Amino acid sequence: DLRPLPVEGRPRELAAMFTRINALLARVSDSAQRERAFIADAAHELRTPLAAMRINVEALQRQASEPRQQQLLDGIVSGNVRATRLVSQLLRLMRSDATVGEQLEPICFDALVQERMAALAGIADARGIELELSGDNGVLLAGRRESLVSLVDNLLDNAIKYSPQGGKVLADVRAEGAQCVLRIADQGPGIAPGLRERVFDRFFRDPRQAQGGSGLGLAIVRAVVEQHGGGIGLDAAGSMGLCVTVSLPSAAGAKR
Ligand code: ADP
Repeated sequence: DLRPLPVEGRPRELAAMFTRINALLARVSDSAQRERAFIADAAHELRTPLAAMRINVEALQRQASEPRQQQLLDGIVSGNVRATRLVSQLLRLMRSDATVGEQLEPICFDALVQERMAALAGIADARGIELELSGDNGVLLAGRRESLVSLVDNLLDNAIKYSPQGGKVLADVRAEGAQCVLRIADQGPGIAPGLRERVFDRFFRDPRQAQGGSGLGLAIVRAVVEQHGGGIGLDAAGSMGLCVTVSLPSAAGAKR
């Protein structure tokens, strides 16, 4: 029904209604902002004591002689590693919401992906997983480096984490029209179509997957993609596995 609403006679009520809606919206975004700031501050404050704990435990590890002591200390270290990762993910997530302190700069995306693959090669090697990069050279975009590193790390980390022993992870970066497109395909269990929206929610984890993680990785990935004006899609990779496709405006297309 495209007829105009009969509002002509009631400008005052209408104005009052808009004022109320505006006040409400301001309150909602105010409290969302406060919540983000609180989480970021808390995460930031937790980093120092966690780092201090790690140093102390490592000192104890060097002195411990009994296997039982070693075992208990290893448990503390792995808890510390998980907590530290969670804290830095929270910080990243709250920051990427707010895009604090990062400038747009020209970035060669394929070089960045190659660099992150080299950084994660040790983790992949330990599980006999092969990392391969294909596509174009010199794929330029205007981006925030630290955020993009986090995007690529989280996707590679998942692909490695959910791959079977000895599996292959294929990354491909290419320029397609005005977009830089990154595809990362693995041979893991994939994500059921019904869950492909929910996996981007903060703290969402597929209960059938037993891999340790916080459920924040894909939320961070999505936040970074949105921050860069891009898009993300999840598909099946062949008969099994997941293929994540991220498109970001290329340097020419990203001028804002
Ligand atoms: P985390 O991996 O820390 O649990 P993420 O936010 O990165 O958190 O991922 C959310 C969920 O999406 C994971 O728990 C897992 O169920 C699923 N998932 C993510 N990446 C993959 C992948 N490459 N293959 C299969 N499942 C995945």
